[in-house]
Amino acid sequence: MPLKDETLLVSLGRDPDNNYGCVNTAIYRASTISHQSMDILENGDPSRPVRYGRYGTPTVRALEEAVAKLEGGSRAVAVSSGKAAVASALMTFCEQGDHILVADSVYGPTRSFASGYLTRMGISVTYFDPCMGERVETLFQKNTRLIFAESPGSLTFEVMDIPAMARVAHRNGALMMMDNTWGTPLYFKSFKHGVDVSIHAGTKYIVGHSDVMLGLVVTTPALEERVVSGIHDFGASLSPDDAFLALRGLRTMDVRLERHEKNMLTVARWLRDRPEVAEVMCPALPEDPHYALWRRDFTGSSGLFGIRLHTDNRDAVAAMIDDLHHFGMGYSWGGYESLVVPQYPDRSRTAVPYTKPGYVLRFHIGLEHPDDLIDDLSAGLDRLNQVISRT
Ligand SMILES: *Cc1c(COP(=O)(O)O)cnc(C)c1O
Repeated sequence: MPLKDETLLVSLGRDPDNNYGCVNTAIYRASTISHQSMDILENGDPSRPVRYGRYGTPTVRALEEAVAKLEGGSRAVAVSSGKAAVASALMTFCEQGDHILVADSVYGPTRSFASGYLTRMGISVTYFDPCMGERVETLFQKNTRLIFAESPGSLTFEVMDIPAMARVAHRNGALMMMDNTWGTPLYFKSFKHGVDVSIHAGTKYIVGHSDVMLGLVVTTPALEERVVSGIHDFGASLSPDDAFLALRGLRTMDVRLERHEKNMLTVARWLRDRPEVAEVMCPALPEDPHYALWRRDFTGSSGLFGIRLHTDNRDAVAAMIDDLHHFGMGYSWGGYESLVVPQYPDRSRTAVPYTKPGYVLRFHIGLEHPDDLIDDLSAGLDRLNQVISRT
């Protein structure tokens, strides 16, 4: 019987017997790794998979191994941020003259890398409707190299039919690449669904405590060699201290995510029933248009979702969110604490222009008691209404 995820999270990436009995893998700081013979120096030693600090010290390798196994991949490479993971994974597989398909609702900095850097390097980019599923095939060109998906999409939370898109990619000789940050290696098993290269901003739930930047690129046996050398070519290695904190975060990720999901659903349902709210964008709610796909492919939900308010009144929204006590206002998410930020999907979408009225707010629901969060939001909506009624 393969081990269950909870057990893997506790046991992967550590080996007390070879670590003086210490429970956790030590922080190995290293640039030079000295080798025992000329043969090992030149050809490596399979029992000691470390060669040089930049390629990962034992602490970084432990994290890579743990995440790869958890997601069901064969190899992960850790880098210094989620953005570095996205950029280096794309650069590893794109060549001048290639064409790539990128989801319209992809993370903003991914989009700017594709539209900016990749386009300048002679790679053409077509953005696709994240809801088109298998019909993405109509956008294929002779030179289409890969599909880049992110599910659910940033800001608007469309769940993409990854297995259908992966089938299209494969029958056209292309790769399926996915940013799986929201799903985490726990709630979306990329490789079971046909993904070839999975990317994580480990900054979010893997680290889980808002104190480390980290990216991971995970892949299959067929692409392992290409991914390892391609990502290492950029030299954006992860520090062993940050790898240690990520391993620590990983141990409790299932426990944290369960609570994030529970709190998130409580808050999202409460917001759904408020008259100020036009729409809740949360695939884990049964009335959400993406619920069926989410249910089919994901085993859980994280704590990130969005709402669209009826109002377009900026002052009213500022009055609401400026004085929330339990919601920090800042980017990133996946830490233990709640967050809110206004979002503007109309500013980035091209395949499916975003034209709905009303402010979009993105919430990350943390580990606070949801009653306290709801009280805070209730007072915030009172402030919003006061400003609206004055104008
Ligand atoms: C945050 C995020 C990233 C970038 O991660 P950083 O560690 O902040 O560079 C990439 N993709 C998604 C979906 C994200 O939410």
